[in-house]
This record gives sequence, C-alpha cells and structure tokens, in this order.
Amino acid sequence: MRVLARHPIAWLLLILVIVSAFFPLAPIVDAVTGAVPGDAALTRPALYVILAPLSNTLDALTFLTIERAKVLLATWVILFVLWGIVAGRTRRGRLIRIGLAPIVVFALAGAAVTLPRPVPALESADSDATIIDFHSHTQASHDGRHGWTDDDLARWHADQGFEAAYVTDHNVIYPGRENGVIALLPGVEWSVYRQHIVALGRAQPIDSTSHALFSKDTPGMLKLFDYLHQQGALAIASIPEYWENHREDLEQFVTAGVDGFEIVNCAPKALRFSSADRADVLLLAKSHDLLVTGASDNHGWGKVTCVWNLSQVGAKGFRANEVIARPIALAQGDEPVWSAGFDQPWLMLRSLTAGERASWLTWIAVYLIYMSVPRRQGKRASIGILARDLTPQRD
Ligand SMILES: [Zn+2]
Repeated sequence: MRVLARHPIAWLLLILVIVSAFFPLAPIVDAVTGAVPGDAALTRPALYVILAPLSNTLDALTFLTIERAKVLLATWVILFVLWGIVAGRTRRGRLIRIGLAPIVVFALAGAAVTLPRPVPALESADSDATIIDFHSHTQASHDGRHGWTDDDLARWHADQGFEAAYVTDHNVIYPGRENGVIALLPGVEWSVYRQHIVALGRAQPIDSTSHALFSKDTPGMLKLFDYLHQQGALAIASIPEYWENHREDLEQFVTAGVDGFEIVNCAPKALRFSSADRADVLLLAKSHDLLVTGASDNHGWGKVTCVWNLSQVGAKGFRANEVIARPIALAQGDEPVWSAGFDQPWLMLRSLTAGERASWLTWIAVYLIYMSVPRRQGKRASIGILARDLTPQRD
C-alpha cells in the first residue's frame, strides 16, 4: 500500500494504459472513408516497441498544431512544477524539481523534432500501388532545414515505407532522380496569389510576365493550372492556403482545371484543417473526379509522417489514390486547443498496439518494483536492485 501512496503518478499511468485499451483508436485510417485500410498496415521496428513510452511520446509530440503544441508544453511545465512543489521534501528538492520541469518538457519537444530514432513504416499488400509522398522539401526551400539534402529526404521517406516521393521545394524546380534509396520525383511548389500550388512532374521555370499574372489576383492565379498542363505537370492545391484564402473560390479552381486538392498535410499550420472542412473538399473533389492527396510537407524537421498515399505515379481522378493517415493527426483540427495537454496523451494511449501497451506496462512495472525494494534508511535508489543486493551489509 505504501508503494501506491508513494507513486501515485506511476499508478495513474498504469490505470490509464489499461483503461485506454477499451477505447481503441486505429493507428491508421483511410482519410476519405475513415475506415481501417484492408490493404495496408503500420509496422514498427523491435527497438521502437521496446522503447514504446519514448517512441509513442515523441510521435505524439510531432502531430500537433502550433497552438496545441504551445498549450501542451505550457500545461506540462505547470503540472511538473506543481508536482515538484508537492513531491519535494526539502526546499532544495522542490527548487531542483521546479527548475527541471521546463528542461524536461522542452528536451522532449526538441527530441521529437531532431532525435534519430526508429520509426513506424507503412507496408502495403497491394503490389500494383506505390507508397508515395506528394509534397516534401529539401534545404533548397527557404524554410527547409539547413543541410537537409535530397539524400536525407529519400532516407527519411524510405525509413517510413515510402517507395517514391515528389520533391516540391518552394519556387525551386527539382529535376527528379532515380538512383537513390527511393525514387525522388520531379516537382515544385509555386507561391502565387495567396496560394501555394504543388506542381507534380517536369515543370518549367515561370517567365516574369506569367509570374506577374499568377501573383496579381485570383483570376490571374487560376491561369497557372493551364500553364502547368502545357508542360505536362499536374496542379494540386495545398493546405492551408486554399482553405484559408480561397474557400469561396474552389468551384473556380475546378473550372480552371485544378487536378486535385490536398486533404491531409502534416505541417503544424495545416493540421488545423478539420474533419468538416475535409468532408466539404471531398464532396467537391468526388463530384468532379479530382485527385485528393496526403502530404508529409516535410522540411527536414520531425522524424515521422502523419500520412502516406497508395497510388499509381501520374494517375488522375478521385479513385486513383488512397490517402492513409494517422488518426491522432487528423484529430488536431477537431480537438479544442485548451485541452491539448490532456487529450493528446489520451489519443496516444488509445492508439497503442498490443505490443506497445505491453511495453508501457512492463516499464511501469519495472519502475514500481524497483522503487518498492526496501532500502536502508537515508539511502537513495542506486543503479539497480541486483547491485544493491550485492552490496555488503555493514550492520
Ligand atoms: Zn510545402
């Protein structure tokens, strides 16, 4: 009983890990239908599962809007500070805990963005389809991570099961390359009037007269689609711009010949896109047989994608592509901002697989067993139970 009283947080976590199993959330869904895909599965390396508490936490910290990330970090700093005040037995102990609170929370956030680690990968049973990313960046983009080469980008994709990826740097044409770990496909992301258009395929540079036209107003911008078609490239409208700036113009996008719309984009500013917004765009795309795509929009930060596509390269039309997304990422546009500190861990725990849940329970059990081993008065926990047992007793 003293173990229960002394380690309430570990016990609470234990209960949450068990209870969340009764409210399961699929690790991946078809972003169009919401159903669990029958032809694809997420696989996790052994080390990812062994380190599940860390792996899952860092993944969950990756799939947040900017607003929810700020609230989550603030919530957990405050909770750790309060815990430090309650749990610290001396004034010094309390101060150390309070000082450590923001360091621990921000170290975890930093680790989510930069720490090399094993990652989940998508596997598909459909041999006709290619697992593809429609939108990603290298250091050639003004906001790309410094030193993030196309080799780095290809490895990032390959680790997560991608077989091909379009490289779509901001206003810098990527020529494509075959001889890497995966095929990198040619593309570019053009910034035009209050809109980013992802061009898939061999785009040509935009001459200054055309650039002035595309950047002038909405009717001018819409002429970009024809311009790209003449070059043999497809034009895909990117989130969040088409929704934030051109919501009322989307029928005109269709009339002007847009080839498709992104419906999932993993960039923090694009995760705000809600299920209701997505349903509206899906209705439009379906009625005009347009492509809908998922975009990692990776810029060199973060280790995990929130979306994959099962597709045929160059295929067009609503049914040509299956968008497979992580529900914890799709929920970002629907969950309130203020509760991010609590609902994000809950969404994470609900998404655990049986193996991950077993890993969490094992780590919590090991901690509780270790902490419950009686130790001599005044002596803190040392390196291990075994080491302490072997220590000669001097009484
Ligand atoms: Zn982008």
